[in-house]
Amino acid sequence: MFEALSERLEGAWKKLRGQDKISESNIQEAVREVRRALLEADVNLQVVKDFVAEVETKALGAEVVAGVRPDQQFIEIVYNELLQTMGETNAPLAEAETTPTIILMAGLQGTGKTTAAAKLALHLRKVNRSTLLVATDVYRPAAIDQLITLGKQIDVPVFDLGKDADPVEIARQGVDKAKADGINTVIIDTAGRLQIDADMMAELVQIKNLVQPHEVLLVVDAMTGQEAANLTRTFHDQIGISGAILTKMDGDTRGGAALSVRQISGQPIKFIGTGEKVEALQPFYPDRMASRILGMGDVLTLVEKAREEVDLVEAEKMQEKILTAKFDFTDFLKQTRLLKNMGSLGGIMKMIPGMNKLSSDQLEKGETELKRAEAMIGSMTVMERKDPDLLSSSPSRRRRIARGSGHTEKEVGELVSKFQQMRTMMQQLGQGNFPGGMGGLPG
Ligand code: GDP
Repeated sequence: MFEALSERLEGAWKKLRGQDKISESNIQEAVREVRRALLEADVNLQVVKDFVAEVETKALGAEVVAGVRPDQQFIEIVYNELLQTMGETNAPLAEAETTPTIILMAGLQGTGKTTAAAKLALHLRKVNRSTLLVATDVYRPAAIDQLITLGKQIDVPVFDLGKDADPVEIARQGVDKAKADGINTVIIDTAGRLQIDADMMAELVQIKNLVQPHEVLLVVDAMTGQEAANLTRTFHDQIGISGAILTKMDGDTRGGAALSVRQISGQPIKFIGTGEKVEALQPFYPDRMASRILGMGDVLTLVEKAREEVDLVEAEKMQEKILTAKFDFTDFLKQTRLLKNMGSLGGIMKMIPGMNKLSSDQLEKGETELKRAEAMIGSMTVMERKDPDLLSSSPSRRRRIARGSGHTEKEVGELVSKFQQMRTMMQQLGQGNFPGGMGGLPG
């Protein structure tokens, strides 16, 4: 769902590749790319402005971290800003101290409000919270029947008084019934209109004042993009919402609404709807969403770990060697151990953009091969480690190493040629060109 946005942002990182550090001059273009990416994703204009201004300030104030390139650092800054905008963690649904918890659903017609009410009921049932659905939409001809049908499907009772009753009265009696029946949570489905409408708002306010809900969830159609921001603002100003459900995230949405809702209302998106079926509801995790938007694997963790665990001086020396093609077998061993300190090879590879598409089989194979390489390097002389070219020209040296490490001569030969390939790849990495895969892994 965020492919276009991810692709666009990729352009922003590119602007910083090959630079020594983030500077006043090189940050402008990168920031402009971020702005363009967000606008194309249909993020609200004001939200974009605030976002971009923050990113720029933080990028310029960022301290250089050894071993972390400016583009990686910039990704981290954008990621943190995404979290800032969407909220750091999942905001759970309210649960009242004395039952029932009362949830009021609000939103325009067609956004998926009735469906979301049923989805929520099913979600709560799965965590052993009993629910009562209350049907107050007396205007849309089939709304009550729709809720009754959905209720039957998920085995949740639905309270209604037909379509001639007063919605406020239905809500009141519904809550009373839940109390009498010892139900944990009441979900009140309300009437929507095609557009914001004074009568609809007045009715919602009346119901809200009467039942004093613990949650007012605004149902927002993710497909509406820019409009989602205006809608959120109006509902929040007039009724006061406590959170939102973003529906139709499975559709062809450009994703903008996900960034606008909390920034505009200060209230979190609590769930996302990902399909027409009642099961298609997921708690909203801003951090996962942000990672997905960046579409880069977890570069952030890489940056974080580089900060925490890698000996920075060592990293600089290594980088220098990589850049000047002086990387030898001894460095290779050091690098391997460094990687091991940072976690498994699989874990590391997944964090590197372009390398996160490897299968676990491939990764496992890579790890075994690394171990083998380590054994063979262990049988090399100091000279041989320093100058891998000695090995490509001498079969007797390769034979000795094979014997010493318990591997075949052919395997030693392969290690040497793959090491040479890897050195070339490392140089490319050092210059900021990411190859599509890790074709050069020694083994
Ligand atoms: P309401 O008028 O707001 O109560 O909207 P409904 O609940 O009747 O939903 C309107 C339409 O959107 C229906 O056809 C639903 O099946 C569909 N719908 C609701 N949620 C989702 C969703 O998350 N994904 C998709 N693809 N369709 C949805």
